[in-house]
Amino acid sequence: MNANKIWNIKCLVVATIIALVAFLFFSHFLNLQKQKLKADETLKSSVYGNLLWTEVDRELNSILFISNGMASYISAYRDDLRPKKIKFILKDLWERSKHVRNLGVAVGYQLTYIYPEANNLKIIGTDFRNIPQQWPKVKQAIETRQGVFDGPVDLIQGGQGFIYRYPIFLDGEYWGIMSTVINTNEFLDSAFKNTPKNHQFAIRTYDDKKVFYGDPKLFTDKNTYQQTSIVPNGKWEWAIKNHTNTFTDQLIIYQIIGFLLSLLFGVTAYRTIQAVGMLSEQAMLDSLTHLPNRRLLQKRMEVAHYSCKRLHKMMAILIIDIDYFKKINDTYGHDFGDEVIKIVANGIKATLRDSDTVSRVGGDEFIVLLKEFKVLDNVHAIAHKLTQVFASPWLVLDKEITIHLSIGISIFNPDDPVSVKELLKEADIALYDSKAQGRNRFSFYQKGQ
Ligand code: GH3
Ligand code: MG
Repeated sequence: MNANKIWNIKCLVVATIIALVAFLFFSHFLNLQKQKLKADETLKSSVYGNLLWTEVDRELNSILFISNGMASYISAYRDDLRPKKIKFILKDLWERSKHVRNLGVAVGYQLTYIYPEANNLKIIGTDFRNIPQQWPKVKQAIETRQGVFDGPVDLIQGGQGFIYRYPIFLDGEYWGIMSTVINTNEFLDSAFKNTPKNHQFAIRTYDDKKVFYGDPKLFTDKNTYQQTSIVPNGKWEWAIKNHTNTFTDQLIIYQIIGFLLSLLFGVTAYRTIQAVGMLSEQAMLDSLTHLPNRRLLQKRMEVAHYSCKRLHKMMAILIIDIDYFKKINDTYGHDFGDEVIKIVANGIKATLRDSDTVSRVGGDEFIVLLKEFKVLDNVHAIAHKLTQVFASPWLVLDKEITIHLSIGISIFNPDDPVSVKELLKEADIALYDSKAQGRNRFSFYQKGQ
């Protein structure tokens, strides 16, 4: 795999990590928002639930009041109870009440009086103990000596209703029971008529989970708020769902936006890293030949010098200079000279391995760094090859010219180590020697030169 590909993969990995971190951040943020809104929603639903219950309670109290009135009458006139009067009071109470279907009074356990009588007369004389679906609550009211709210129950005379049973005791002795039958729907509709309609809700009995108002599905819906409220001697359960909740509906959109933003972050990061990498790479390259410049060469020489010292290996520095380059420039112009520099750069590069460093350090001067060669003969062979690259005349921009190179070579010997600076100086001295000896040749630095 070449260095470019490895660099691209590195950029991709970093960009992916950045995108992932961004995505996790967005998800976390969304989650926090979701939790906060859920808490807000629960609060709103619970406030709404309390409002509903207050309305029901108000409606209920006005009905329960009727039974107290009747019980007080019976208690006051216990010695002179006249059927006609009882009937009159039932009629009067019924007319003052709302949503009450009928009022009944049982003496003992037998229904004795009822108002209105129309459609209800047939149940006069019924003994509660013989109505299995109603007797338990009647019994509970008598035993607890308290009013019991029952229902909705199927009525004997047809239809459904809530029944409030209120036991009447005279001097501690059970006398009878008053039943107030309430029209379920009429009662609830009236209770909720003024409540805002931004929530959906359902109500069911606590004991047998019978839903008597609203959509039963709300009780299995995870997004509902549920509450319990107490009715006389029993409980109701409520499931409340907020319909103004737009965030949950739009959550998927926010998630998609978060995902796209993360992707954008990743792509931007990838491009930025690539651009920064390219800039820093360009700062290390020669703009004409795209070969490493003096800065990059210096770094590579230091790394190679360190590793040769540590691993006890040799390295070589070759300074290559074009002979009489000024003359080429003067004869054919600067642009032509540039072309020659590029041709020489390519020629040198093609002669060496990819692992060797070929750099242009200015003007018509190149420096080659050779590492990890086995014997000095190899350096000799390379130098020879380099002088032979341009042995015959070259065609540059339709003009045939002669290009000759002079080379100065210094060798790093771990047995007698010198600094990078020294090495460069020695190669320069050797180059001077090549030039002095007539150019188009290579020279090794000789100690003491
Ligand atoms: P020698 O054989 O001793 O090396 O002589 P020379 O004529 O090659 O002289 P030298 O190497 O000292 O001069 C290099 C010249 O290269 C000097 C300068 O005008 C020219 N030069 C430097 N940079 C560039 C460049 O980027 N493009 C071109 N076309 N010429 C350059
Ligand atoms: Mg030159």
